[in-house]
Amino acid sequence: GLNPRDSKVLVVGLGSTGISVAHYLHKLRFKFAVTDSRDKPPLLEQFIQQIPDAPVFTGGFDEMAFQVATHLVVSPGLSLNEKAITKAVAGGAKIVSDIDLFACSVPGPIVAITGSNGKSTVTTMVGEMVKAAGLRAAVGGNLGVPALELIEQHADINVIELSSFQLERTTVLNATAATVLNVSPDHLDRHADVAEYARQKQRIFKGNGAMVLNIDDAIVDAMYELDRKTYTFSIKTQADFYIAEQAGGEYLMYEQSPLMPLSALPLEGRHNAANALAALALGTAIGLPMEAMCESLRKFKGLEHRMQKVAEIRGVSWVNDSKATNIGACIAALEGYARKVILIAGGDAKGADMNELAPVIKQKTKAVVLMGKDGPLIGRVLKASNVPVYFVDNMVQAVQTAANLAETGDSVLLSPACASLDQYKNYQDRGNKFTKAVLALV
Ligand code: ADP
Repeated sequence: GLNPRDSKVLVVGLGSTGISVAHYLHKLRFKFAVTDSRDKPPLLEQFIQQIPDAPVFTGGFDEMAFQVATHLVVSPGLSLNEKAITKAVAGGAKIVSDIDLFACSVPGPIVAITGSNGKSTVTTMVGEMVKAAGLRAAVGGNLGVPALELIEQHADINVIELSSFQLERTTVLNATAATVLNVSPDHLDRHADVAEYARQKQRIFKGNGAMVLNIDDAIVDAMYELDRKTYTFSIKTQADFYIAEQAGGEYLMYEQSPLMPLSALPLEGRHNAANALAALALGTAIGLPMEAMCESLRKFKGLEHRMQKVAEIRGVSWVNDSKATNIGACIAALEGYARKVILIAGGDAKGADMNELAPVIKQKTKAVVLMGKDGPLIGRVLKASNVPVYFVDNMVQAVQTAANLAETGDSVLLSPACASLDQYKNYQDRGNKFTKAVLALV
């Protein structure tokens, strides 16, 4: 096993996670080195100042460093199929993750959240619920602060968001409560297929804590394990946490009792009702009082770039859902609308099959404005539908085209179903350019 006396750890990838791992190893007096294939990783200078005596190999993967390593901690941004890594593993090196180290060291209980969509939203919701209950929450992981940096917060509850790549290289977690929110095709440029991607997500349940399962999602529903404490949620049918029509409208329900009206949840999009139910289930699993949880949901304003209403101009509402970087998020966004919208989409499809978008676009949009590398891919699957499609080169054109098409009462939705990196720095940059172009219409 991993221990400071015999282990030699190589931290592969000098991002913020890699740096948090190095600090952790340094503190526990492990022998370790750091490597990055880039000549000058952006955080290098800062790192050398913080831990001056750590061996650092940049500008390629140092063969020797991989050979002597007994353990590798590989950045979630890197594929485990990287040649230097497969070679080291064949030679006996073990893969461990920052999440393994975190899980072994953190004193308080862990609530762990994964899924194709909704991770950040639910992670933030649960963090707020913990605080509303008067407890201290440490919130991070894939979202924001690297997990290992949460340890020193000595929180009562640790709420962590995990990506499929983090889970792929994690063996111990044993969360007190964990969920897979949903599984829809994503990252198929790096996972062999959806089944493989789902298997990585399922690793979040390793251990014997409570499982929170979305029974609306067949892949998640199948993750059920006998003998485990389980909480189910659904926005379609009765479950432990669900939605039902009561006198005066729809309510969030638990075990057949109404908790709060759905209309009191200040978030756009029906998928956010699912997120609220998941958060309530996780909170219940760790014993948070229901009243405090509902109180925090009533105040939850949502995160930027996720179904964020940025303006209402001449009767047209403009919604920024730039974080919709896969088809699942775009489908969920569209399904939340009763009336047809004008959709702005396109970008890097990351190998996903755009055919799955066609039926919901046909049903829920009056026009589609497409841009980016795989805009044409979406255009092609819409050929057979009667939806008018417009191709544009950039966000300003997209917003202007949509503005010309929109009539009073319409919504214009940026929900790209694609990653942003072909045209933008990141999804935030894309969302900000959208907002700026929208505000310029006034
Ligand atoms: P993640 O951290 O998993 O990327 P976010 O909360 O940041 O999740 O939301 C990402 C995108 O997915 C946004 O476009 C958001 O509107 C959409 N989304 C959020 N929750 C869900 C859900 N439960 N099902 C489908 N799409 C969702």
